[in-house]
Amino acid sequence: MSRLPPALRTLLLHSGQTSALLAMAVLAMAMAPASAPPDADPVSPEGVPVMAVAVPAGPVMRTMTFGEPVPGFDINSRFGMRRLGGEPGVRMHKGVDIAAPSGTTVFAAGEGEVIRIGHDPAGYGNFIEMRHPNGMTTLYAHLSRIDVATGDRIGSRERIGLVGSTGYSTGPHLHFEIRRDGAQINPARVLGEVFQVAVEDTALAAAS
Ligand SMILES: [Zn+2]
Repeated sequence: MSRLPPALRTLLLHSGQTSALLAMAVLAMAMAPASAPPDADPVSPEGVPVMAVAVPAGPVMRTMTFGEPVPGFDINSRFGMRRLGGEPGVRMHKGVDIAAPSGTTVFAAGEGEVIRIGHDPAGYGNFIEMRHPNGMTTLYAHLSRIDVATGDRIGSRERIGLVGSTGYSTGPHLHFEIRRDGAQINPARVLGEVFQVAVEDTALAAAS
């Protein structure tokens, strides 16, 4: 090869490299699995799928998350047994209280449908109850104003009313409940949790 003109040597060398690369590519294609085995680890280099993975049967899922109904204000009375000033003994507090000035915006904790609004002078005052795609309901109480109606479909983080002190309340705050299977659960344990929900039940997610 040393006697060949430089240009031809370069050409041969180049075509030799090309052939080698082509051979490697063919070899790689031959070695690649036609489809990834079902239990292949998607992060392992050997198991990188070379074809689109089939969409599994069943409902298309997406996620939803509950967010704070009055962002920027802390829970100042927690869920659970508590002693109320001026009352004997302790009572179960079935939600959380978030103290905020009257007129502060109250947001839906997540997308859903308004299933009930009302005025309960001895208790919740002006309140809103919503049902969410994860099957849970949320309740917002002591509102000074309600900006939604029963049947309304509400997007996540949409304004639904204003903080107030209506009903059984000693000062402006939002009393916020989350119910699962009709029973109140601790909202502090659910806020921020990610829920898998079926897409067909949540066309309302795009309502806003
Ligand atoms: Zn409360």
